[in-house]
Amino acid sequence: MAEPMPRTILITGCNRGIGLELVKQFLVKPTPPEQIFATCRNPDAPQSQELRKLATKHPNLVLIKLEVTDPTSIWKAAKEVEKQLKGCGLNLLINNAGIMTESTLESVDEKDLLHVYTTNVVGPMLVTKAFLSLLKKAAQAVPQAEMSWHKAALINISSITSSIDKAIETFSLFPVLSYRCSKAALNMLTRCQSVVYKEDGILCTAIHPGWVKTDLGGPQAQLTVDESVHGVLKVLCALSKKHNGILVDWEGNTIPW
Ligand code: NDP
Repeated sequence: MAEPMPRTILITGCNRGIGLELVKQFLVKPTPPEQIFATCRNPDAPQSQELRKLATKHPNLVLIKLEVTDPTSIWKAAKEVEKQLKGCGLNLLINNAGIMTESTLESVDEKDLLHVYTTNVVGPMLVTKAFLSLLKKAAQAVPQAEMSWHKAALINISSITSSIDKAIETFSLFPVLSYRCSKAALNMLTRCQSVVYKEDGILCTAIHPGWVKTDLGGPQAQLTVDESVHGVLKVLCALSKKHNGILVDWEGNTIPW
């Protein structure tokens, strides 16, 4: 039997990498979402060509301009999505857009640390605030339903490198200091969101997609983007209230903070 999909979803950073693959895999599901809002910084630019091509073939795919570090851009995107939803709520928000820089304890500076934090933490925080009323609306439409991605869910794409517990084993392998600190902060944001938004019926979970061959993950990564996203969607599909406020990986294993 086909897995039931959320009716309406929004993903940030969809023009390449994991975001683009999420869009592709949602589109080919037997019962795909009714509306997929795929956001990227510049839908008209050459780097968004693949996404534009998909939108010409799939009427349920809507491209929205959204720069996660720009509050005006986020606000405009939220207004546009609200208009297109025509009174319905948003079932699933995936904060996927992110950046990673090479930074060690020696090379890191204030500019780098703040730049990465702004994109990877401030961005998801502002995006979530802007779309919160739409997530609440989706949850309110089925008040008796258990927490799930069909009802209303906020997914923050984190990383195993955020894990303080695992830093002893992973730091020398991936010495990306600014990135690690930003994703650890994103985990804290996820936990805080889960505490508060639970009252509204919104499930909040952080997920590590594995080490993936993308521009960010590099060619030596372990997983293809297809394998990673297959796993991520399987995990998201099975999320329930026991996953609220935790970090899981693409295979469904809980990662210690
Ligand atoms: P990519 O570098 O391939 O893609 C990143 C995406 O984020 C692009 O679409 C990019 O858009 C977008 N983006 C970056 N900055 C902004 C911004 N300020 N506003 C809007 N969009 C932005 O990375 P991945 O696909 O690999 O990563 C996706 C997520 O998965 C990230 O959060 C990353 O941290 C996480 N992750 C990835 C892992 C991996 O091994 N690949 C491992 C663990 C976590 P543009 O083209 O305009 O720059």
